[in-house]
Amino acid sequence: MIFVDLFSRYSIKNHYLYASNNRNIILKMSADINKLEQIASQVRRDIVRMVHACQSGHPGGSLGCTDYFVALYFHAMKHDPSFNMNGVGEDLFFLSNGHISPVFYSTLARAGYFPISELSTFRKIDSRLQGHPTTHEHLPGIRIASGSLGQGLSVAIGAAQAKKLNKDNSLVYVLMGDGELQEGQVWEAALYAPHNKMDNIIAAIDYNGAQIDGSTEQVLSLGNLRAKWEAFGWDVLDIEKGNDMTTIIQGLEEAKARTGQGKPVIILLHTEMGNGVDYMMGSHKWHGVAPNDEQLELALNQLPRTIGDY
Ligand SMILES: [Mg+2]
Repeated sequence: MIFVDLFSRYSIKNHYLYASNNRNIILKMSADINKLEQIASQVRRDIVRMVHACQSGHPGGSLGCTDYFVALYFHAMKHDPSFNMNGVGEDLFFLSNGHISPVFYSTLARAGYFPISELSTFRKIDSRLQGHPTTHEHLPGIRIASGSLGQGLSVAIGAAQAKKLNKDNSLVYVLMGDGELQEGQVWEAALYAPHNKMDNIIAAIDYNGAQIDGSTEQVLSLGNLRAKWEAFGWDVLDIEKGNDMTTIIQGLEEAKARTGQGKPVIILLHTEMGNGVDYMMGSHKWHGVAPNDEQLELALNQLPRTIGDY
């Protein structure tokens, strides 16, 4: 219950934040950053413990995207943890690179969508927390099955278009991996959204330069991503420090300010795979490898226990 309470407090703070003048916003944001970083540390602990417990899963991308997830669910998004699949009147999030499910599940649990204790069932038989999220399991917070890469942007654009048709002013967020951009369907969606003026969507690319088999440069170069997305008609912004909470919050506020201007918005989120655990950083090696007992201990020693382990 402590986490539901935490979430309520953040909601109140955010409400106050938006209602304040600029000076207060700066002061208030600096006060919130500490809390957000504490949650992120706990989410990172959850990730390594979940993947270790079943000796399976994807810690690298999960750790790299942790700060962004926490910023979304505990600051940027207007959402309701009691969860309604229709999502009318609230911001929606779609995870396209579904293999980073550990960070998604932990964030949802910590935000109050389902019991935190359920994280211990990750990837087990009959668990609602399958390796790749599925709607079949009816886990609150999961709106699409994902893991077959390349599909999330199309779904998010469909949801954004539905919101427009229904005159629902809330936003749609979607996260993709950078290696995922090698899927052709992404570019079909990229073409569709600007043509239809889908300016209520904020897409993000986990731009860590790495994928399961090596660097994106070695496997299949992405070239100049900014130039590519701009050429397709998107409003592109960089979050250069995608593992720094202050930078992420500022970037998300900027992205939100750019919605409603006739163009879909996309964030190049520069992250580091494995961020927070020294031996997992600087390599693609930990994309989909579980730590052993000793490695788990090493990781946990680097990640302060802040709001309680499950
Ligand atoms: Mg990547």
